[in-house]
Amino acid sequence: MCGIVGYAGGSQAAPIILDALEKLEYRGYDSAGIAVARGGALTVKKSKGRLKVLRGLTDDGASINGTTGIGHTRWATHGEPSDVNSHPHLSLSGKIAVVHNGIIENYIELRRFLTSHGYSFVTETDTEVISQMIDFFYAGDSLSAVRNAVRHFEGSYAIGILFADEPDKIIAVCKDSPLIVGIGDGENFIASDVTAILKHTRRIFRMCEQEIAVIERSNIDVYNAYGERIEKEPIFVTWDANAAEKGGYEHFMIKEIVEQPDVIRKTASPRIKNGQVELGLKNITDDDIRSFNKIYIVGCGSAYHVGKVGRQIIERFANIPVTVELASEFRYDNPFVDSSTLTIVISQSGETMDTLYALKEARKRGSRVISIVNVVGSTIASESEDVVYTWAGPEIAVATTKAYTAQLIVLYLTALYFGQVRACASQADIDSAIKQIERLPEVVGELIESREQVQYLASLYFNSKDIFFIGRNIDYALALEGSLKLKEISYIHSEAYAAGELKHGTISLIEDGTLVIALCTYAPLRDKMISNIREVKARGAVVIALARCGDTAVAEAADHVIYMPEWEQLTMPSLTIVPLQLFAYYVASLKGCDIDKPRNLAKSVTVE
Ligand code: GLU
Repeated sequence: MCGIVGYAGGSQAAPIILDALEKLEYRGYDSAGIAVARGGALTVKKSKGRLKVLRGLTDDGASINGTTGIGHTRWATHGEPSDVNSHPHLSLSGKIAVVHNGIIENYIELRRFLTSHGYSFVTETDTEVISQMIDFFYAGDSLSAVRNAVRHFEGSYAIGILFADEPDKIIAVCKDSPLIVGIGDGENFIASDVTAILKHTRRIFRMCEQEIAVIERSNIDVYNAYGERIEKEPIFVTWDANAAEKGGYEHFMIKEIVEQPDVIRKTASPRIKNGQVELGLKNITDDDIRSFNKIYIVGCGSAYHVGKVGRQIIERFANIPVTVELASEFRYDNPFVDSSTLTIVISQSGETMDTLYALKEARKRGSRVISIVNVVGSTIASESEDVVYTWAGPEIAVATTKAYTAQLIVLYLTALYFGQVRACASQADIDSAIKQIERLPEVVGELIESREQVQYLASLYFNSKDIFFIGRNIDYALALEGSLKLKEISYIHSEAYAAGELKHGTISLIEDGTLVIALCTYAPLRDKMISNIREVKARGAVVIALARCGDTAVAEAADHVIYMPEWEQLTMPSLTIVPLQLFAYYVASLKGCDIDKPRNLAKSVTVE
């Protein structure tokens, strides 16, 4: 999900492409590659690791001749980061090179089809089917080959294609993955975002789904789904390079919050097929799943909090007891795990040291292990028996938002899958849950769009010294995450409390004007929450409540209310988390904090 660049012009393509790829480095990547067309042949250079390795391989681009080319920074989703899995990928004929961002969901089916027609594959990627499918349809006309091939692709993609036999053009298509075309003077570009090409041009247009663009040095043709030529209105980008890197947002954190609907779609949709959930486990069988008698969910920080939400849902659907543990405690705790226990470890980076050692401890004791990880090929992914990737794309801000959301989606899917296999969830419940998950991107998107209220509330309270979050059941699990987000980036002291526990001590900290954020979205215990709001208000607290749509009783009890959209209980956490993330973000922003790189924190915690 990382970076694509393409160049068709009058200068040597390779140095320009390498330079443009560097501008996309901020998006995170694990490998890089380049292909240049010249004289009926394609030169491809690619390697795992940083761009400087590729620079070394190509003498900073000087060793590759040709004025049309494509480049890629890869964030592995299918197949570990390695030289061979790096893009560009060639067709078997060696005549078509492809760079791709996204996921081709039906690649296994397409591989099968192509294999039956004599094609073979050298990589583990989903992407390789793209070059081979285009090759399958290619009979001298690149445009119609791409048009025919793309019809068969399911999933998300931004694709740049180069043909040895038509060496002056790049063909570009995309769906649910960004791709822009840059219009230069005697040279034209494609790129994942404007940052890559700002140095050369500020005139761009965005590619839309089902469009195909043919980019040449002095000509750009764009076709719609019916094959008609269409005009695209270019826009002039005024952003400076710094703003462009963040897609025009002030910080990566807000950019990543806004990306969540897309992340939900990318994490969920490949795993929902014909009304059933498919987790894609390779080693843990359905019989194993039926035989487990308990589950441990283990993680650190937000990953631990997501486990707390997941626990409730897995227990409900799969009818199996779930314990959630902090990785740093679990590993020294003599955990009662054995071969009938499943341990689910969660880590965005896949390198979290505490989680890795917890995983090792679990395996040593015979437990089966599934990891939920964002970085393909990471240590935790390779040490687990099975891994379910979150496909959230690289997360740059230290405080996680979109990876948390993606982990939550994987836990919903795990609950549903286990419920299916263990035959403890009714088909009607599964159908309803799947429908909710499929609609989530839209509803989360609307919630993010209407963020002014949270911004306003943040402006009232950003000077608070202490902020308390209270909730019950799932809302308590969310309160933990809301409080952590706030602490991490705004440096305000904050506590998350199970609302019923307040009176056992913490309520003594409430004084006149203390801000309490009361989560009241868990319907079965909402009356209890109203009593808790009254309790803290009686001691002088100011209360912001998060309530279900139209819940006027909560609104009356609190000072401010943020209404959630009308929604089902099961997947409500995916909505409730959004205002909590936004509140932390706006408070920290108003305090002028270094939001993306908060003090004392690291993105990937590789020490104990
Ligand atoms: N799914 C492709 C792969 O794993 C593309 C990943 C990307 O977007 O960089 O190679």
